[in-house]
Amino acid sequence: MSKEEVKVLIIGSGPAGYTAAIYAARAGLKPVLYTGAQPGGQLTTTNDVENFPGYPNGINGPEMMIDLQKQAERFGTKVSYGMVTAVDFSGYPLKVTVDEKDVVTAASVIIATGATAKYLGIPSEEKFNNKGVSACAVCDGFFYRGKEVAVVGAGDSAAEEATYLANLCTKVHLLVRRDEMRASKIMQQRVEKTANIEIHWNAETDEILGDDSGVTGVRIVNNKTGKKSIIPIQGFFLAIGHQPNTSIFKKYLDMDETGYIKVIPGSTKTNVEGVFAVGDAADRVYRQAITAAGTGCMGALDAEKFLTAKEHAEVQVAVG
Ligand SMILES: Cc1cc2nc3c(=O)[nH]c(=O)nc-3n(C[C@H](O)[C@H](O)[C@H](O)COP(=O)(O)OP(=O)(O)OC[C@H]3O[C@@H](n4cnc5c(N)ncnc54)[C@H](O)[C@@H]3O)c2cc1C
Repeated sequence: MSKEEVKVLIIGSGPAGYTAAIYAARAGLKPVLYTGAQPGGQLTTTNDVENFPGYPNGINGPEMMIDLQKQAERFGTKVSYGMVTAVDFSGYPLKVTVDEKDVVTAASVIIATGATAKYLGIPSEEKFNNKGVSACAVCDGFFYRGKEVAVVGAGDSAAEEATYLANLCTKVHLLVRRDEMRASKIMQQRVEKTANIEIHWNAETDEILGDDSGVTGVRIVNNKTGKKSIIPIQGFFLAIGHQPNTSIFKKYLDMDETGYIKVIPGSTKTNVEGVFAVGDAADRVYRQAITAAGTGCMGALDAEKFLTAKEHAEVQVAVG
C-alpha cells in the first residue's frame, strides 16, 4: 500500500475533470487527476463534436480530449491512469483508494466521473454506434436534419428528444415498449400534438438494419401480437436513461433516486465538506461537454475557496 497526499484530487478525465484540473493547476494547487477506465471520457466515443465553442469547423472527440489533457498538464496537473475503487469521506483528510491498493489522502476531492447512457444491448446497436445509432439527440440530431429517425423510450427524456428531433427531421418514430408512456402528462401531450411524431405502442426493437452507409431501418416487433415490421430510418436514438458513475460515493453523498450527486444549487458543493461534484455525475438535465466543462471550472474555484478558508482557520487557531 502506498500513500500520497494531495491538495486537490480530481476523479475523472472528461471535459469536467480536465477543466477543473486546468483551473486548479493555474491556481497553484498541483492537482492530481485519476483518469478511470475511459481516459478522455464519453467524447472519446464520438467523431464529430460541432457544438463546443471555439472549434468553427468542429473537432474529433478524442482529439479534443487530448488537447484538454495537454492543457491541464501544461500547468502542472499530474494525470494518473488509475481507477478510484473506494472512498472514505467519514473524516478529514479525505481518503481515496486507487486500483484497490493505493490510498491517497486529499484536502479536497472533485468528482467528475460522468454518466453512462443505457443501451438496449442488441449486437446491431453496437455495430452501428456512431453510424446512425446515438444516445444523444442534442449532440447528434443536427446530422439527421431532413431525415427520418426513430427514438426508443417512454419517459420524459424520450418525449423531449422526440420533440427536439421533430424540429430537425422529416419524421420521428417513437418506439414505446408498453401501451402507455411514463412521461409526464404535459410532455406526452406535446408529443401527441407534434404532427411529425408517430408513436408505435408495444414496440420492441428486434434489430437495427443497415449497410456500409450506416443505418437504413429498424425492425420492430409488437410484443402483444408478435407481428414484425420494418421502418425505414437513417438515425436511431436511444432515450432509455443514463446511469451516473457514482456508486462508490453512495455511502457518503446525497444523491437523487437515479444516483446523480446532489449539490447546493449555484455551486458544486456536496453534503460533505471539501467534496465537490461536477459534470454529468451531478447533472441529470443538460449532460453536454460545455456544461460539464463549466461546472468543472466551478468545482476548482469552489475547492480553491474551501482550501483558502481552511488554511486561514488553521492559522487563526495556531496564532490563538
Ligand atoms: C456518443 C456521444 C456523443 C456525444 N457528443 C457530444 C457533443 O457532440 N457535444 C456535447 O457537448 N456533448 C456530447 N456528448 C455528451 C458529453 O460527452 C458529456 O456530456 C460529457 O463528456 C460529460 O463530461 P464529464 O466530464 O462529466 O464526464 P465523462 O465525459 O463521462 O467522463 C467521465 C470520466 O470519469 C472517469 N471515471 C468514472 N468512474 C471513475 C472512477 N471510479 N475512477 C476514476 N475515474 C472514473 C471516466 O474514465 C471518464 O474519464 C456525447 C456523448 C456521447 C456518449
